[in-house]
Amino acid sequence: MAPRIVRACRRGPVARVGGPIRFRRVSHDLPRTIDLMHLGVPHALGAHVHDGWIVDPGPQRTVDRLLEALGDEEPRGILLTHIHFDHAGATGELAARFPDAEIWVHERGARHIADPTRLVASARGVFGEAFDHLWGEVVPVPADRLRVLSGGETIGPWRVAYTPGHAKHHVAYLHEPTGVAFTGDVAGIRIDGGPAIPPTPPPDIDPPTWHRSIATVAAWKPRALAYMHFGVTSTDVEAHLADIDEALTRFTEQARTADNDAMTAFVREWVAARTDEDTVGSYYAAGPFEGNHGGLARYWQQVDEGKLSA
Ligand SMILES: [Zn+2]
Repeated sequence: MAPRIVRACRRGPVARVGGPIRFRRVSHDLPRTIDLMHLGVPHALGAHVHDGWIVDPGPQRTVDRLLEALGDEEPRGILLTHIHFDHAGATGELAARFPDAEIWVHERGARHIADPTRLVASARGVFGEAFDHLWGEVVPVPADRLRVLSGGETIGPWRVAYTPGHAKHHVAYLHEPTGVAFTGDVAGIRIDGGPAIPPTPPPDIDPPTWHRSIATVAAWKPRALAYMHFGVTSTDVEAHLADIDEALTRFTEQARTADNDAMTAFVREWVAARTDEDTVGSYYAAGPFEGNHGGLARYWQQVDEGKLSA
């Protein structure tokens, strides 16, 4: 069954937000997913707006689409689950455009958001000439605009949890008034009710840690999950979390012996067996299947070297 993707907020009551009273939208329901149509593909990358906050604005390449969807709405803040370009690349440009918005990021990602030079240089090494086409320009965020998180804090309506495994600097957010968990990549990629699968690019992939992070999200007993790839799960949250847990186990086992080609074929078949042809295209756009092997192979290598536990 397809997860329900709610595109419009209900108009809520008048809220008081510091300073003078002004009218604003308060969502008591599910977040709004903005399809960023990255590279023209639907349902691959989606930013979320909830209760006036933006969660994971997406790459700079698609910032115009986000701004258009916001209209004259001024975000209260920008919450980053992690700093990968597909999730956070637009943050610098948005910070400049919305000078009152605070930017939230985990302490292990903060310095790269403030100075993306190193991150961009290493990504250019991976993506080559395609970098600009894929991600656009990555603008630094002034350090004094950042709220640096360690996980475990509750700030306003938000509970923050440290959820590494996909990235060492990954957090998830629970919006307590509505029970919506914003899971970044921890609950995987799930498109149009298809399977939940783990994006596993290098360099931070650590499946045992990731499994614990899935349990952290599950312990919140969220009413809904919202995530970049793509949208909202509200009807079968527990099944979704069980599914990503299982897929992570199976993908990890597979990568123990499979080479890149075999792993790519395995992931493609895993997805194709559980959804239709068009949706496979969106899964591919959200996380090219060739990208799965590198992070898991690196993990196994570190296990063999005694640096990580199996
Ligand atoms: Zn990521």
